[in-house]
Amino acid sequence: MSLDDELNQVLVARREQQLYRERYVSESATGAEVIIDGRRMLGFCSNDYLGLANHPEVIERLHDASRHFGVGSGASHLVYGHSEEHHQLELELAALTGRARALLFSTGYMANLGVITALLGRGDTVFEDRLNHASLIDAGVLSRAKFKRFAHSNVPQLQRSLQQAGDGRRLVVVDGVFSMDGDLAPLPELAASCQAHGAHLMIDDAHGFGIIGKHGGGCAEHFQLSTEELPIIVGTLGKAFGTFGAFVAGSDALIETLIQFSRSYIYTTALPPSVAAATRTSLQLLKTESWRRDRLDSLIAQFRLGARQLKLPLMDSFTPIQPLLLGDEKTALDVSQALRAQGILVGAIRPPTVPVGASRLRITLCANHNAEHVAQLLYALDRTVPDAVRVE
Ligand SMILES: *Cc1c(COP(=O)(O)O)cnc(C)c1O
Repeated sequence: MSLDDELNQVLVARREQQLYRERYVSESATGAEVIIDGRRMLGFCSNDYLGLANHPEVIERLHDASRHFGVGSGASHLVYGHSEEHHQLELELAALTGRARALLFSTGYMANLGVITALLGRGDTVFEDRLNHASLIDAGVLSRAKFKRFAHSNVPQLQRSLQQAGDGRRLVVVDGVFSMDGDLAPLPELAASCQAHGAHLMIDDAHGFGIIGKHGGGCAEHFQLSTEELPIIVGTLGKAFGTFGAFVAGSDALIETLIQFSRSYIYTTALPPSVAAATRTSLQLLKTESWRRDRLDSLIAQFRLGARQLKLPLMDSFTPIQPLLLGDEKTALDVSQALRAQGILVGAIRPPTVPVGASRLRITLCANHNAEHVAQLLYALDRTVPDAVRVE
């Protein structure tokens, strides 16, 4: 059999399982209204929660900095690519997170790989929530540490697992805000368990930064956790910051360790300096323009109230991630396609991104939506979601 024949067999099976993934071609900036495959739609699947990706000041800063620094950084951070803009952004991210230092990575995926593989090896143990982001799972596997999963946010189960763990370093890793569910990790309880069992806590706060906490400082700010309690924070810049990239925040010793040993930090080209510069502007906006978070809160309240009245299968989330749990893959796909036909773009999330039987619409609300947009979404959902999956 040729390689293509082998591959096509698998592709056909994936399509039959309703798991096939397809890309749309977007012809506009991310925002409330988007143009997809030539058609104007209302979008509810962007992670640009604060509406900063298309902000005029952020765009202007990107332009200005690229006139000065050019486009590409030219090298990795350790060789020559670490610009003044990267450096200042790291200082500002450390201040935002209340940590001694921060270190930029090119993506969140790479930050997670870089931290976990630098800190763990054979003989160590990593403990991960079952619903952790794929990049955290991959990082744990790649580290060669012993891999222990615990049921979603089940602290007693984690504690039993910690009691049975062998010698070696112990790292507990969770999403701060779970990316497909929108709920928060029970960080104070997790931090206490870690301290009781000589383990260290790491969060991936990709969906918390900019959103959670009074100044957008994420879950660490929301729960007021110190470096002792929460020594390792990963944040991403491609979501609420509206730009691109990621960072790790923590102690001086942690950051120096990553600079020395983190392979996905060392062996890759630094972000364009203009992206770092633009991120500095979005960081200022994110801290000072708290009306964006207030706007989100009122949209979330409006959506949840309306969805409850329509008996839609809401999940327990107060963040901009508002999934509707539909169950099987086909229902999720059918509903998202029917919404598309009505000009509403929402992603159908299926296994392996979520557990089998937990397929869902992942609705995200952004500060550039308004009450009318949410009303249109609810109207379309009411026409589309089958009665069988509605709740009492
Ligand atoms: C998006 C995401 C990442 C990956 O970040 P990128 O910068 O897009 O690579 C990591 N973790 C979580 C929880 C995410 O949602």
